[in-house]
Amino acid sequence: MRYKCMAKLNSVLEKALSFERINDEELLCLLEEKEGGRDIIHIADIKNQKINSNMVSFVVNRNINFTNICGLNCKFCGYKRTERSKDAFLLDYDRILEKISEGKKIGIDEICVTGGINPKLKPDYYFNLIKIVRDNFPDLHIHAFSPQEIFEISKTAGMSIEFVISKLVESGLNSMPGTAAEILAQETRGKICPEKINTDVWVEIIKTAHKMGIKTSATILFGHIESNLDIVYHLSLIRQIQDETNGFTEFITLPFISYKTSLRKKVDSTLVQDKVFKFYAILRLYLDNIKNIQTSWPKIGVPAALKSLECGVNDFGGTLMEENITKSAGGEFGEYLPEEQIKKLIGGAGKIPVRRDTLYNYIEFFNNDFI
Ligand code: SF4
Repeated sequence: MRYKCMAKLNSVLEKALSFERINDEELLCLLEEKEGGRDIIHIADIKNQKINSNMVSFVVNRNINFTNICGLNCKFCGYKRTERSKDAFLLDYDRILEKISEGKKIGIDEICVTGGINPKLKPDYYFNLIKIVRDNFPDLHIHAFSPQEIFEISKTAGMSIEFVISKLVESGLNSMPGTAAEILAQETRGKICPEKINTDVWVEIIKTAHKMGIKTSATILFGHIESNLDIVYHLSLIRQIQDETNGFTEFITLPFISYKTSLRKKVDSTLVQDKVFKFYAILRLYLDNIKNIQTSWPKIGVPAALKSLECGVNDFGGTLMEENITKSAGGEFGEYLPEEQIKKLIGGAGKIPVRRDTLYNYIEFFNNDFI
């Protein structure tokens, strides 16, 4: 796939602002643009205001990473451990329920459950995990298992993807994270996570989930060895899937945290914040069929996450309570922001904080009296 950057920045920005779809060649032009970052951000901000007005949503949730033992070796990962590692863990169901009970004390609406690809885990561990959580917390939204995990269950159990998802849904699953996408341009994907499912399989699992009525997020791992053409391929594919299924609730950028990963040596420079801000803006302009663009405070820090609200972003993410994956790769921005603090931060940035559920139903709007 080859595109030439021939489009002029102003005409691309005009198109995006008038809600005309910009094409892949124009997307490449935005990605390659060196001087016009501020203009791109400005137009993305206006476009976001038109779509989401001044509202910035957040979710009160808890991450639960049930194991860090993993048989794969993704080069961008600082989280995985082998079974013999001193700090390897696998949570039993009681500990998972305990963690949810802790979360309930702060009023969580959602748990997000993912883990390493632990070769010892049988499919029943996954099915029973969902069932036990559902039995104990009937109203909780269970957002669990990436396409990689769904694939592993299907492979080990000898069940079709569709059957695995339907069994999980029967047990109580509500939605799935669209992680394990990393970068969907296969050649680069093969370099950074050679043992992961390939792009075709990722797409098949996501589309199967969407067609069964299970919503997912969409993600990208950004700022490693990917080229702009790789990004064009990735975003174009995400947009095509959304045209077909309308199953993505949000787009989440995962800026690459390199410090404790083997990919670090291959990456030219540390990802600078301005590049991330411009990328958020480009997402708002290009992904015209995904309403929600989420920032990532654990990866870029709270001040940068607040600044991203002026770059086309309309969602602040979640309270999280714990965040092991970024922390293990060297992230230093913490793992818990209480709801009250998130509301103050969003309000302090001149926006209206809105508590939402996982599927972006707005639950409560807050005025700024509490700031
Ligand atoms: S990214 Fe996930 S699948 Fe890859 S090595 Fe890390 S824990 Fe394992």
